[in-house]
Amino acid sequence: MSKYKKLYSTLLLGVVSIAILLAAVFSYSKSIEENYKEENLNSLKELSNQAAVMLYNEIANKQNLLQELSHDVGRIFVDDPQAAANYLQDAAKRNNFKRIGVALPDGSSFTTDGAHLNIAEREYFSKVMNGHMAVSRNLDDYTDGGRIAVYAVPIFDESSQDVKGVLFATYSLETFRNTIEISFFGGAGYSYVVQENGDVVVDSKHPESFKGFQNVYAALLTADPVNNKDSAEKLWQMINRKQDGYIEFYNKEQKYMYCSPIGVNNWMLLTVTPARVIEDRTNTILNKTYLLGLLLIVIFLAFLWHIMRLHARNQKKLMDIAYVDEITGGYSFARFFKEAELGLVTSDKKTAIISMDIDGFKYFNDMFGYEEGNDLLRYIWREVGESLNTGELLAHGVADTFIFLLHFDTRDELLWRINDLCLHLSHYHTRTGQVYKLALSLWIYEVDGETDDIVSMADRAYIARQTIKNKGDTAWAFYDGAVRNKLLHEKEIESQMEKALLDGEFIAYYQPKYSTAEQKLIGAEALVRWQRSDGSIVSPSEFIPLFERNGFITKLDRYMFHNVCKQQMLWLQQGLKPLPVSVNMSRMCLYDPHLVDEYIEVLEESGLPPGYVEIELTESAIFENTEVMNGVIEALHKAGFKVLMDDFGTGYSSMVMLKDVNIDVLKLDKSFVDDIGDERSEKIISNIIYLAHSLQIEVIAEGVETEVQFVFLQSVGCDYIQGYYFGRPQPAAIFGELL
Ligand code: C2E
Ligand code: CA
Ligand code: CA
Repeated sequence: MSKYKKLYSTLLLGVVSIAILLAAVFSYSKSIEENYKEENLNSLKELSNQAAVMLYNEIANKQNLLQELSHDVGRIFVDDPQAAANYLQDAAKRNNFKRIGVALPDGSSFTTDGAHLNIAEREYFSKVMNGHMAVSRNLDDYTDGGRIAVYAVPIFDESSQDVKGVLFATYSLETFRNTIEISFFGGAGYSYVVQENGDVVVDSKHPESFKGFQNVYAALLTADPVNNKDSAEKLWQMINRKQDGYIEFYNKEQKYMYCSPIGVNNWMLLTVTPARVIEDRTNTILNKTYLLGLLLIVIFLAFLWHIMRLHARNQKKLMDIAYVDEITGGYSFARFFKEAELGLVTSDKKTAIISMDIDGFKYFNDMFGYEEGNDLLRYIWREVGESLNTGELLAHGVADTFIFLLHFDTRDELLWRINDLCLHLSHYHTRTGQVYKLALSLWIYEVDGETDDIVSMADRAYIARQTIKNKGDTAWAFYDGAVRNKLLHEKEIESQMEKALLDGEFIAYYQPKYSTAEQKLIGAEALVRWQRSDGSIVSPSEFIPLFERNGFITKLDRYMFHNVCKQQMLWLQQGLKPLPVSVNMSRMCLYDPHLVDEYIEVLEESGLPPGYVEIELTESAIFENTEVMNGVIEALHKAGFKVLMDDFGTGYSSMVMLKDVNIDVLKLDKSFVDDIGDERSEKIISNIIYLAHSLQIEVIAEGVETEVQFVFLQSVGCDYIQGYYFGRPQPAAIFGELL
């Protein structure tokens, strides 16, 4: 999963979690809001009902008081109403009455404040004269026009129980209001008392109340005819049924009105509070909830951030391991590929991917040690790194492989840079001050746009190495059309090789070997040829390197060995005198511990006596692992095979090495023979031969093409000659004629 995908999924997780959290806070707040509204309406209801009860008690108390007083007053009243009024002075004062008075049946009254009023017109008066107690609605005081309410009780004649007068107590409405207008909801609430028909009994002084209104229904409809219509209707129903309950209404703002029956005169207590008060209280709680939600989100985000940071840190640690090359401290291949992918898109120049390694790095390591080897790698990394332009990349991979990415405009420019770089890298100074000549192999893949991923491009750069021929010096090759065709061709060969072996398409050609002294035929080398079903002959250079890479070579070598044994046996049986024939054994035999045993088995099966077949091992194979090779050589000797060291002089061997391997014949490589004519080269050849002879090793020169070469080799005591000068590799039938 890419870094961005991970980031997105984390972000998504965060967003979803926050959304869930927000939804939870929202629904929680909704339920809180509803609960709170209900709770507040309930407290409004309680307040209202309590106030109604208080009001009822207040009225009942006052009435009780008046009733008691009426007994006392009843006795003195008839004789002297003024004295009765005087008697009540004290009670009036104690109970905060504006006045108490006694009235005669004609309505004339005597009061504690000395006002002589006639109350015959008052509604309560007639009610009381009929034997009931009464509480008046609010009235205008006859004396000073102030608003008042009046309690009144009958004064009964003790013996006849007739009503002989009225005892009344006048409250200033102010005082009455004080009873009901307890402060609630922080002073925002207020109350009215109304009659059954909605006419007001006690109004309110509260600044937000209906001012000077006569009827509550009318007041509601005046305040907001549209919105309050239903509410007024609802209130009317509640009052008429003497039920309690609430309405919502509008008077500049939304309000709640709670209606509680008082139980006196069909009066109703209406308790009002603005919706805002309830909402404010709810909002306070809600704000706390939101704050908590926000806090949770913040904590959650912090937590998420922390987790992501931890994750990123771990990721970075892992990345560092995978992305940093241990030896150079620079990019690893993994990092290179990752960066290269981005780099390819961003540059408008052409791009080349170059795979590079050091020829004989293993040899260098063996000679100078691993530390020095690592120094060399760091040196190359540094030098190449310094030559890079911005946007170009370099990485060190396993062992001595490097890969780098260059941008360029023309192929000439690219080659010039590579050439310059190689020249720069050509000499390495070891810790001990020695100058080591570096040979590099570079495989260049020009990114052509149609190709796919960077890794396979790098592979192609690496594959291009196969086209590098002249090892021993710095060289480069392009992965281009030719390489592509070559690879296609190799694919084809690989698909055919097994069947070709079964069908006997691989045959041995015999190249004669001659003695230099007598120029006598002394043997031959068996060289494989692929004779296809159409009769065409394929040369080994086209398939041997491939078989060495894919491992098929060991099968082919065994087959050739078997073939040669059979052929020699045939010649023997034909009465001819066969000469020793050498077969090539690939370096791959090093990795197959059973190979020699298998060869011995094949030899025994053929019935051929030992001595007729010899084995050629290439010098570089011997050098690669001297110990293992000596084991192989020893086993071969035991089985009666002579061992020849092929291609002497092409690898990294030194002549000193000859003493370490027990070979019988040294095959001087064609490259030495080609140099005959050059004085120094000739000196080397004669010394090699001298040294070999001193170690009881015979010498054969291969690739001898001219008489000049032959004469020289003869003069320096080279034992045998193989080459076109004496004979080319030829089919068994033709070579057999020489025997
Ligand atoms: P090699 O073992 O060094 O064989 C000698 C090569 O030099 C042969 O090439 C031979 O034809 C060629 N040659 C001989 N005299 C002359 C000469 O005077 N002038 C020139 N220009 N060339 C000469 P060939 O047959 O093409 O084989 C090439 C290589 O393929 C061999 O080099 C050997 O390494 C490999 N090879 C051939 N057959 C086998 C085999 O059966 N098994 C293995 N493992 N390798 C084989
Ligand atoms: Ca050979
Ligand atoms: Ca050779």
